Amino acid sequence: MSSIIRRTKIVATLGPASESPAVLDKLVGAGVNVVRLNFSHGTPEEHQQRAENVRAAARKHGVVVGILADMQGPKIRIGKYVNGKTYLEPGQKYIIDADLDLNAGNDERVGITYKELITDVKPGDRLLLNDGLIVMDADAIIGREIHCTVVLGGELSNNKGINKAGGGLSAEALTEKDKEDIKTACAIGADYIAISFPRHGADMEYARKLVREAGGHAGLVAKVERAEAVEDENLKSIMEASDAVMVARGDLGVEIGDAAVPPVQKKILRMAPKYNCPVIVATQMMESMCNHPIPTRAEVNDVANAVLDGADAVMLSGESAAGKYPVEAVAAMHRTCVETEKQRVLPSSSTRDPRYPPHSVDECIARQAMETAHSMPIRAIAAFTDSGNTVLYMSRHLGDVPIYALTPRATTLGRVTLFRNVTPLCMDVDYGPTEAPKATVDLKNRMLDDGLAEKDDLIVMTFGTPMGHSGGTNAMKIIRIGDNLE
Ligand code: PGA
Ligand code: MN
Repeated sequence: MSSIIRRTKIVATLGPASESPAVLDKLVGAGVNVVRLNFSHGTPEEHQQRAENVRAAARKHGVVVGILADMQGPKIRIGKYVNGKTYLEPGQKYIIDADLDLNAGNDERVGITYKELITDVKPGDRLLLNDGLIVMDADAIIGREIHCTVVLGGELSNNKGINKAGGGLSAEALTEKDKEDIKTACAIGADYIAISFPRHGADMEYARKLVREAGGHAGLVAKVERAEAVEDENLKSIMEASDAVMVARGDLGVEIGDAAVPPVQKKILRMAPKYNCPVIVATQMMESMCNHPIPTRAEVNDVANAVLDGADAVMLSGESAAGKYPVEAVAAMHRTCVETEKQRVLPSSSTRDPRYPPHSVDECIARQAMETAHSMPIRAIAAFTDSGNTVLYMSRHLGDVPIYALTPRATTLGRVTLFRNVTPLCMDVDYGPTEAPKATVDLKNRMLDDGLAEKDDLIVMTFGTPMGHSGGTNAMKIIRIGDNLE
């Protein structure tokens, strides 16, 4: 385990540049905490193989790496071109044709994967293709064709994405493909499943039902990437219904405009602690590293600001999936986070704000543990946790004393990989109801053996008595390493 503690987690997307066991090994060695499998590409067997490779690399390094299965969602795409592409001039007319064969695009028209687009789009609406690089305005809907005028031209090639400015597409968040992919993700034991383009909490609740039916244990990540999703009521219901949210700045920027993304990111990071909702900041964080071995100063600033605003995790997409420097990109994020974390991030107000009292006994103990750890010279916080809830509450506090989550449960170890400042530690013993004294002694030895604490260090320990019951954290004690007391 690296001796330098990084509090903010790194999520890296796997792809052609990084899925070989050799590169994966280096990514884990460089400190990746969660690997994102993109379900837009690949078969169930390939996803299964990738997950196995991730776990093998993690085992080799003696760490826990979480697996995030990212669903494609209703990403609307144009069809293919007979010649692979077309070139659009500003001012020219162009047709999106719902009846055109998906392989028959040409210089006049192109097909579309989502046929209902013709009823969602009205004359005057603006369409953005290829992440906003191509812009066209809808002039008229004639039969099953959208007649457009090109505003921003350029090359348009096969299968590029298409969004409507301002949102408002009727597409369901979960497609038939997603429903099948959720089963695959559950079968391979994903720790998290990311749902693309949810509109409100109800979309997440529906996804939760599918995960339950498939017998999975995965937590749900809502990708905030639709204009509707950032409206206050919808965002609130999404946070209530999800285990984490992702600021999915790519599609979000296309729907609400690039300039509106930073304030939305800040708003999400401000709101999230109230709902005990971890946040991943994603997309283009170190984009220039697709082609260069070092990031730009602006990119370093972007990552640093996410850290200072209390993000749980920062994410790499193309940089690690398809770029030339996947390992360097993880290293650049790592050093940026570590350096930035030297500045104290103030404990989030909600964990101290009397308007947001704790909801349960374990949340109350978690908060008291954090208060104690930051008012005395405490080396670490060690939480015996069955579900991982106690360390979730602790990590919302944004303290700088490291939190260790101790549990024999693989699902809980995977869950906490995303939480800021929480390190999963596999404690290979399921303690019986009266074994708190034994757990105390084991913990002291473990902290010493792993080099996480030294003789005479003080540790805040939390646990539940009787031990071995989920949701049962009801006690905290301060223990001294090396004193042999129970
Ligand atoms: P994607 O989602 O990479 O799956 O599109 C993230 C985003 O839109 O930013
Ligand atoms: Mn997206």
